[in-house]
Amino acid sequence: MDLASFIRDIPDFPEPGIMFKDITPLLGSPSAFDYALDQMMMPYEGIDVDYVAGIESRGFILAAPLAVRMDAGHVPIRKPGKLPSKVERIEYALEYGTDALEVHVDAVQPGSTVVIADDVMATGGTAAAAVELMNRLGAHVVGLSVLIELSFLEGRSKLSGVEIHSLITY
Ligand code: AMP
Repeated sequence: MDLASFIRDIPDFPEPGIMFKDITPLLGSPSAFDYALDQMMMPYEGIDVDYVAGIESRGFILAAPLAVRMDAGHVPIRKPGKLPSKVERIEYALEYGTDALEVHVDAVQPGSTVVIADDVMATGGTAAAAVELMNRLGAHVVGLSVLIELSFLEGRSKLSGVEIHSLITY
């Protein structure tokens, strides 16, 4: 299946100069969504994965069904101020300014295995922050699984040592 045909390019969203990769056509097709989930989990077949962590917010749409398929728990990695219990927090640099992500400190146990999922890896800063959060909790990140990789932004350079699995590369 040609998954790229289910991704819509929206120019200048959310700001001028950004080509937004809109995954909603893929989500709206049961066969494409099902196929994408199968492909996203493929590298982890036969591997004991305890959790699939999703990065807010489109990461949740992928990570939650992946977790159920992989017989793993789902861990939401959220924007600041959303999680009600005690959190670990990481701040990371954006092109302009900083952003932050949080996760419940008891979301994973030390030594547990985690796959991180998101829709798009662009500069890799968000994914690298998610990996660092999981490492701080003592988890082992088995891999990062994304639908789309914008390879010209060289996100992989921020994620050395992390196994990256992407379905569509631009
Ligand atoms: P980055 O930290 O630069 O890798 O950005 C990754 C995060 O921003 C992901 O959670 C994506 O959902 C979102 N993102 C970045 N660039 C795009 C894009 N061109 N289209 C859609 N989402 C994007």
